[in-house]
Amino acid sequence: MSEIARRRAVPVKIGRVLVGSGAPVVVQSMTNTDTADIQGTVQQVAALTAAGSELVRVTVNNDAAARAVPHIVDGLAKLGVEAPIVGDFHYNGHLLLKKYPECARSLAKYRINPGNVSIGRKDDDNFRTMIECAVENGKPVRIGVNWGSLDQALLTRLMDENSRLPQPREARDVMIEAMLASALHSAAAAERYGLRRDQIVLSAKVSGVRDLIEVYELLAARCEYALHLGLTEAGMSYKGIVASAAGLAPLLLKGIGDTIRVSLTPRPNGDRAEEVLVAQQILQSLGIRSFSPQVTACPGCGRTSSTYFQELTEQIQSYVRDSMPVWRVRYPGVEEMKLAVMGCVVNGPGESKHANIGISLPGTFEEPKAPVYVDGRLATTLRGEGIVEEFKQILDEYVATRYGAGIREEGLVQIR
Ligand code: SF4
Repeated sequence: MSEIARRRAVPVKIGRVLVGSGAPVVVQSMTNTDTADIQGTVQQVAALTAAGSELVRVTVNNDAAARAVPHIVDGLAKLGVEAPIVGDFHYNGHLLLKKYPECARSLAKYRINPGNVSIGRKDDDNFRTMIECAVENGKPVRIGVNWGSLDQALLTRLMDENSRLPQPREARDVMIEAMLASALHSAAAAERYGLRRDQIVLSAKVSGVRDLIEVYELLAARCEYALHLGLTEAGMSYKGIVASAAGLAPLLLKGIGDTIRVSLTPRPNGDRAEEVLVAQQILQSLGIRSFSPQVTACPGCGRTSSTYFQELTEQIQSYVRDSMPVWRVRYPGVEEMKLAVMGCVVNGPGESKHANIGISLPGTFEEPKAPVYVDGRLATTLRGEGIVEEFKQILDEYVATRYGAGIREEGLVQIR
């Protein structure tokens, strides 16, 4: 697969993670615990990082949350979790960062939404205070514009100017222009207040797929700042997953986007780490980064009318997923492995030959045997009740032989 030419962005160091051109696209996530709940937040950050999140954002919305932040960072360090923690500030960030200097020091980055601090109003003291705090503590900042909280003074001014034009532009175009102006004016202001260009990440999030693509294409063309990419309020379940993939893919394929977040709404008591897995899968499907062996499985059809094929496929997929925490450390490169789990003889052998290891399970009316292909060649044929267990054994041996040359020093994803 040919390499994607990445847009040249000024690299930004966030703790131990590098974001920007030359560095892999970084996957990030955000907690949904009450930040004041130290133990709950530590647990969720640990779960998100175990799933592969390389940066984790927590909301810092009140005194209790700001007081909790240093304890959360300490608690994570004790667990060996090194992912940088980003503080999400709205409305009162200027007060909290000043009042709780330990919070300001322990965060790896601040996220500031210029739409709900003072930028664009007569004076921008609150924004300035937050930037000066970042400068003082040597912290990078994401200036994160969101169309749900766009700087209203700026939008009103641009709308007024537009209405006076002989041929006014559509309201949507003015809104997009206001988002870009808010992000770029705020970044310029942050530089005036002392933040370096390599301490600034920009984002301009909208919830419409086509709007997102247009906003980021324009933003990428107008600046060199590293860009945080994501569809805001993507939604729940397949809607959020599909909309995020549809919005992010065209941009990532053009080399736009240095860090991504997929803003899924979890189901009640659902797994927050789903957003990490979806972000990873988007990058891996596009051939941008590899995180886990990919299992090609056919959808099944009338030739697999029993649940036998689905059960076997699920068992093999779960085995790969459960093995990954150990495989990732012990077997560098295993995330590039391709597996095929196919339902019958029609496409089974052909697809299996394209994978590192493939198994063609017997269809409903076929003889109960499952040929296994290793590196394109028929290696063995499995029969009877123990097909899955024997396949797992073959898989283990293959992984150990093929990827067992070295042990990764770090347990989680390495950022090179
Ligand atoms: S490989 Fe066989 S079972 Fe799977 S979809 Fe194709 S025909 Fe159906």
